[in-house]
Amino acid sequence: MTTFHELGLAKPILTALIQEGHENPTPIQAAAIPALLKGQDLLGIAQTGSGKTAAFTLPLLHQLIENPRKARAFHPRALILTPTRELAGQVRDRICAYGAGARLRAGLVIGGAPINKQKNLIRRGVDILIATPGRLVDLMKQGAVSLDAVEYFVLDEVDQMLDMGFIHAIRAITAKLPKARQSLFFSATMPREIERLAKSLLRDPVRVEMKRQAPPKIDQSVMFITKQEKIGALTKIARGEAFTSGLVFSRTKHGADKIVKNLNGAGLSAQAIHGNRSQGQRERALKAFKSGDTRILVATDIAARGIDIQGVSHVINFDLPNVPETYVHRIGRTARAGATGTSISFCSPEERAELRAIERLTGERFGGSKSEKATSGNSRKGPRRPHRKGKGTKRPKVDAAVHREADKTINNLTFMRPVT
Ligand code: AMP
Repeated sequence: MTTFHELGLAKPILTALIQEGHENPTPIQAAAIPALLKGQDLLGIAQTGSGKTAAFTLPLLHQLIENPRKARAFHPRALILTPTRELAGQVRDRICAYGAGARLRAGLVIGGAPINKQKNLIRRGVDILIATPGRLVDLMKQGAVSLDAVEYFVLDEVDQMLDMGFIHAIRAITAKLPKARQSLFFSATMPREIERLAKSLLRDPVRVEMKRQAPPKIDQSVMFITKQEKIGALTKIARGEAFTSGLVFSRTKHGADKIVKNLNGAGLSAQAIHGNRSQGQRERALKAFKSGDTRILVATDIAARGIDIQGVSHVINFDLPNVPETYVHRIGRTARAGATGTSISFCSPEERAELRAIERLTGERFGGSKSEKATSGNSRKGPRRPHRKGKGTKRPKVDAAVHREADKTINNLTFMRPVT
């Protein structure tokens, strides 16, 4: 196995890695770092959790340490673009940790925070600028930053940026970058549109692909319940012995606030993070969750994307996502760094189509017919059967014994594990 030492990283970085407890490079780091140290462009197909942040920040720090130059006013040498404020903050924190022994300045420019402070920061000079696209474009329009000295450019989580409608901002930003630069492009998925964008921005890139797979140590299950039953089920799960901390996903911001209110009302500590909360509120909620002061964080997908939180015992899909890939992202928040984790998804009768799409994507089958009939406490509406419409939905025959084995009932709510 390659070591960080063998990769040839500068001494202050090696020292910082020891401090951080990173003993060996992850596969993406081992694959990407040598090429990046040679100055090559990189196309990385990898998700949060793979160690991709260090894969792009370590070579960057190495190059800045090896070629020191005083930070110039308005002219960062490196630019890292991320889709969300949280991810930007996290990248900045990683840079500060890995670059602790280097005299480098990293600045964060994100929406929802005072722009004048950010202007001053850039005016004083930063080596590395970490930005969300919208705010960076605002600063460019105001003449508060110049990108013509950027040597190292990173686009992180590009699929998410495009989902969030940042394509025009990305084009406006890349148009101002110098031709001679090193570019890195990371995306968890690579549909044709993204491949085309990558091609237009990268020069002869090294391609590093980390196989997409549902994290192996996650105990996934689905509860077939009505909308009205969801809050009660969540409260019970949160009071369970196995539950140490949980990330709860809500489809809407309003829904997230409502869940928090209900949980707080039931005496459980919970906070929300979503786009309607101020940057300060989001940061405080995240900090409280990381420190254990708040055991439950209720989030919308956009706010939670890319956030690295260690030690989450449960991911609860209070609402199933519309986009099935989002399910994989969500449950990946638990079972980090070799730990085990539990994901429980609530599926109301209205959400059967979403569940089917998730089953198709992940190859998991959650069942939900016979045993649901047998164990569901809600007999008012009679048994709820899984929706079977649509070609190609091969639902394997599941015998009742397997179902019984797979089921768990929490106070009459059907609680099913995958049956494949
Ligand atoms: P990322 O995919 O960049 O969000 O990283 C996921 C997590 O892995 C972060 O908490 C990192 O601190 C951690 N990490 C990154 N590289 C290593 C490594 N080589 N050894 C151990 N942990 C790491």
